[in-house]
Amino acid sequence: MSDKVMIVTGGSRGIGAATAKLAAVRGYVVCVNYLSNRTAADGVVEEITAAGGRALAVAADVSQEPDVMELFATVDGRLGRLSALVNNAGILERQSRVDEIDGDRLQRVLAANVVGPFLCCREAVRRMSTRHGGRGGAIVNVSSAAARLGSPGEYVDYAASKGAVDTLTIGLSREVAAEGVRVNGVRPGYIHTDIHASGGEPGRVERLRTSLPMQRGGQPHEVAQAILWLLSAEASYVTGSFIDAAGGK
Ligand code: NAP
Repeated sequence: MSDKVMIVTGGSRGIGAATAKLAAVRGYVVCVNYLSNRTAADGVVEEITAAGGRALAVAADVSQEPDVMELFATVDGRLGRLSALVNNAGILERQSRVDEIDGDRLQRVLAANVVGPFLCCREAVRRMSTRHGGRGGAIVNVSSAAARLGSPGEYVDYAASKGAVDTLTIGLSREVAAEGVRVNGVRPGYIHTDIHASGGEPGRVERLRTSLPMQRGGQPHEVAQAILWLLSAEASYVTGSFIDAAGGK
């Protein structure tokens, strides 16, 4: 069993997949969690394995408590003692104004983007914290520049969910700072992934790129680098902090 064991929620595609692959290069055994796209998750695992790493794909809906319990129990049994968690899974829905959003959508977005990270943080702390007999660890919550900008006319519900993720990061980081657990956040800007298609505009990053100081969207691996740094020993005195990986916006 390795002493570097990581769960990446939503590790099958986009930023999560880039994070899982980079983590394997850095010596982590990686649990690639996914919701339903088994082919994509298996593809990430195969790529890691082909490069000499070790990974396991595990399906779980992070918004559902029984799924989260099973996900962490599977990692306990198959991979070993958890040392790192990346709360990356997240969703957004069709671009809308607040006066068009119905209650079911609010429940879905907040369940996936807020309840999910809370449940996963809880399970991680139960395993990592010295208060619970653990050996410490690190958590990175993937938020969004939307938490600062609010996403008017697109998805204020999503932006608000990321505001909650930032508050979770600050509060939990202080709660467990003396227990060997660091908790930080990364706020990506416009990154080339599938998520923009869920909003109804697959070409959104290209449309908006000239509004960015760097004049280009980001690549998933550029966010993964920030996540891996925050999890590493190089960030040993960093907790409750955020890296904005947003091209200057
Ligand atoms: P993506 O390409 O749409 O991938 C989403 C991933 O999350 C997939 O692996 C998906 O699994 C998984 N997922 C979705 N709901 C889940 C659930 N309930 N339980 C478990 N897994 C679930 O997304 P992305 O753009 O890489 O985004 C990753 C994170 O970065 C999100 O938190 C997002 O809000 C944040 N972010 C992205 C951007 C951007 O521009 N892309 C900007 C700021 C922040 P399946 O493959 O099985 O569907």
